[in-house]
Parts: sequence; structure tokens; C-alpha cells
Amino acid sequence: MNVTLLSHTPDPERVCAAAALTSYWHKGASETFGVLTEKEIEDILSKVMGYGHVSVIEHATFTFSIEGISRACSHQLVRHRLASYTQQSQRYVRVEELDPVVPATIAGEERAAEAYGACMKAVQETYETLVGLGVPTEDARFILPNATTTNIVMTVNARELRHFFKYRCCERAQWEIRAVAREMLALVRAVAPKIFKNAGPSCVCEHVCPEGDLSCGRIKVNANGT
Ligand SMILES: Cc1cc2nc3c(=O)[nH]c(=O)nc-3n(C[C@H](O)[C@H](O)[C@H](O)COP(=O)(O)OP(=O)(O)OC[C@H]3O[C@@H](n4cnc5c(N)ncnc54)[C@H](O)[C@@H]3O)c2cc1C
Repeated sequence: MNVTLLSHTPDPERVCAAAALTSYWHKGASETFGVLTEKEIEDILSKVMGYGHVSVIEHATFTFSIEGISRACSHQLVRHRLASYTQQSQRYVRVEELDPVVPATIAGEERAAEAYGACMKAVQETYETLVGLGVPTEDARFILPNATTTNIVMTVNARELRHFFKYRCCERAQWEIRAVAREMLALVRAVAPKIFKNAGPSCVCEHVCPEGDLSCGRIKVNANGT
């Protein structure tokens, strides 16, 4: 799995702070944008985000390339609707080599790994047979497993990213999407530390755990915020 931050709003925190200032100052963002100090940006963002006025961070967007994840993972990713996606097509791209994602629970158990490997080999062979018989790749793909690797590009704003991290950086999230989310968080934190400084699972960003009996126990379980 490889997660890359391809691009982002230039000077994302300055853009968001200037936007925030627009709402409660007589000057327009064109005047404030270039003159805000880092300290002022920090103060403005802490203040407005503390008030819950988080729409201001929608002005910063980030584009990631997420490569070599399983289709099981990409399906979870695209459930996050307030983002734009472009995914490798299984209609246009023929699977030359399955190269499946192998969960550690399978890789770490010899007989499980053997059974898994045999199944993937059979899938690959059947896929090749179908394509060889003239079945279009858009139909041959029906036999491909969740383990099949895929590449996807995701463009998303900072507000939705914080929401995404809340659910997907949590210990309760499935391991592969959690690994993707943690990688994404590290990348955006490097370019927008003020926006993402306390981003992460609920226990980090809201100091509560909504998971009830399923909580990992990292923070005292607190389903109703008390
Ligand atoms: C641990 C875990 C287990 C899960 N298990 C399952 C499962 O078993 N089955 C399953 O189907 N899904 C499951 N999901 C996916 C989950 O139900 C959500 O679809 C996914 O997390 C996207 O979250 P979201 O809807 O909050 O956010 P997004 O799509 O990222 O949207 C962000 C926010 O925008 C608002 N919003 C977006 N669209 C609308 C809309 N149409 N109407 C109103 N408000 C909207 C909501 O406030 C939403 O929270 C699981 C997720 C997690 C983290």
C-alpha cells in the first residue's frame, strides 16, 4: 500500500484563516490573506474551530493517490460521500497479475496462507481462461476477489478529512483502511499542522469514545459524553 499526497490548496491554513476573518471583520480576504502572521492564523483557526465553525476549513482541499489497496478497502473508502474519487477500472485495465492483499491473520498461519494462495492462483487462472475465450474483461472481473489490488485518487476538503479520521483512525476501524487513514493524517499534518493538530479518532479529537462495549479501552468508555 502506498499513499501519496499529490497536491493540496497552496497555503491551506492561510486561506482558511483569511476566509474565517471575512465573517467577522470589515476587511476582505484579499487584504488580510497576505499579511496574517503564523500566530494570527493559529489563533483564528483555534478560535473558529473551537466554536464549531468548521465550514471555514472546507476551503482547503487535498488530493491523494492511494495505491495497492484491496477492493475491500476501497469500497469502505468510497462510502465517504463528501469527496471526489477516480478509481482504476476493471473494465479497461486487464488484471495481468492478481497480486492480492494478504491479511496478516492469513499470512501468519501456514495452512491458511496455503489455502489462500491456492484460491488466488485458481482465480487468476480462471480469469485468464475466460479472457482467452473472448469474455470481455468487464465480465471476467466478476470472479475477482475483494483482495484484488486497486489504485484510487481521492480529493477531499479538510472538514471531511477530519470526519474521515474520526472514524477510520479508530482502533475499531478495519486494519487496512485504518492504515490508509493514519498515513493520510501524517501527510496532511505535515502541510497543515494547525488544522489537523488534534485530528484523529473520537478519543483524540473529542476525548470521548462512542463505541460502548466495543471500545478498545484506550479512553474510558463514554457513549453519551458524560
Ligand atoms: C467501524 C465502522 C464499521 C462500519 N460498518 C458498516 C457496515 O457494517 N455496513 C455499512 O453499510 N456501513 C458500515 N460502515 C460505514 C458507515 O456506515 C458510513 O457509511 C461511513 O463511515 C461514511 O460515514 P458518514 O456517512 O458519516 O460520512 P460521509 O459520507 O463521509 O459524510 C460526512 C457527513 O456528511 C453528512 N452527510 C453526507 N451525506 C449525507 C446525506 N445524504 N444525508 C444527510 N447527511 C449527509 C453526515 O453528517 C455525514 O456524517 C462502517 C463504518 C465504520 C467506521
